[in-house]
Amino acid sequence: MLVARILYPVKTLGPGSRIGLWLCGCSHKCSGCSNPELWERQEKYRISVEDLLKLIHSVSDNNPVDGFTITGGDPMEQPEELALLLPELRRISRDILVYTGYTLEELKRMRSDCIDNVLENTAVLIDGKYIKERNNGCPLRGSDNQRVICIDEGFRSVYEEYMRRGNEIQNFTSGNSVISVGIHSPDYQEQLELRLSEKNLLKGNENE
Ligand code: SF4
Repeated sequence: MLVARILYPVKTLGPGSRIGLWLCGCSHKCSGCSNPELWERQEKYRISVEDLLKLIHSVSDNNPVDGFTITGGDPMEQPEELALLLPELRRISRDILVYTGYTLEELKRMRSDCIDNVLENTAVLIDGKYIKERNNGCPLRGSDNQRVICIDEGFRSVYEEYMRRGNEIQNFTSGNSVISVGIHSPDYQEQLELRLSEKNLLKGNENE
């Protein structure tokens, strides 16, 4: 499968300390998307599900993993691989949050066994395209047309409590880059570039 980034501990995209996976490839091309570098399916990011699981276990065997957040790109554009991956992730944590640009209804209309399997193994789905005019600070979502769907009702209360905290941003460093993880306001990139240029630090930053 095509996985551009793996980060841990991600605390700003779901409850607890999570492993975040950024899958590569997205056909929606939403205006204002904060990850346009992940639209193209880039072969350099290919990794087998088996090797990805080894990487994940190298983290989860030695650290607490409360859940997984799978985003991108659109994870639902790699349903065969996700259908293999998610049952294995559930052995570590059943709290699997998946972001997709498709609505749940669109996914069901695709009548794909793989997508059905992915949905069965997903605890919470955040669905729908990003609409920048509707980015108004709603928790966990880039825009308020998107829905937080508790496919596994057992996670409803923990997610409701988490969302009451509001959105936070978490920065990871990678080489000379800063990877900023969380739900960003529409002017986040401009504000970031302004602050970095004031400090002569503009080169080598990424916005997630
Ligand atoms: S679905 Fe997500 S990753 Fe794809 S273009 Fe829209 S905001 Fe970006």
